Parts: sequence; C-alpha cells; structure tokens
Amino acid sequence: MTNEQEMILRELLWLRHGHSIGELYGDDGEMQCHNCMLDFKRDSVERIKERFDQIAFDRMCQAILEQKGELCLNNSNQLDSQKQV
Ligand SMILES: [Zn+2]
Repeated sequence: MTNEQEMILRELLWLRHGHSIGELYGDDGEMQCHNCMLDFKRDSVERIKERFDQIAFDRMCQAILEQKGELCLNNSNQLDSQKQV
C-alpha cells in the first residue's frame, strides 16, 4: 500500500467512523476526532485499533449497566405492586 493509499483510507475512516462533523477537526489537512481523542493523520494503525476496541468495550459495559438498571427498576416496580395487593 502506498502512502497516498494509506492517507485515503485514513481519511475515509476519520470521516465515517460514526462521529458527527461537530466532533471532527479537519482544518489545514488535520484529521482528528475530539470524541475518540484520535489523530487519524498521525496515530499508528495499532493505536487507532486499540482505541476503537476500548470504545467498543466501554459501550458494552455501559449497555450492561443500563440493562441492570432497568432490571432493578422492574424489580422494584414488582415489589411496589406486591405491596399494594
Ligand atoms: Zn470519533
């Protein structure tokens, strides 16, 4: 892969990795995302992958925590309805 091809792929990844234009910084040829705290122009491929893996893991943990919260709410609602009976 040539450097030019790598830069095309980096730009596509920067623009299409799921964060909105407001979170991206692209002045003067920069390719950064404030949300991911990644520099798509300079960070190594390994660093970008590691950060994406970390973000995916954090999202999974958050989803589990939210699901547990819903379960707690459902359980407390059931307890409340049992009290009223
Ligand atoms: Zn991002």
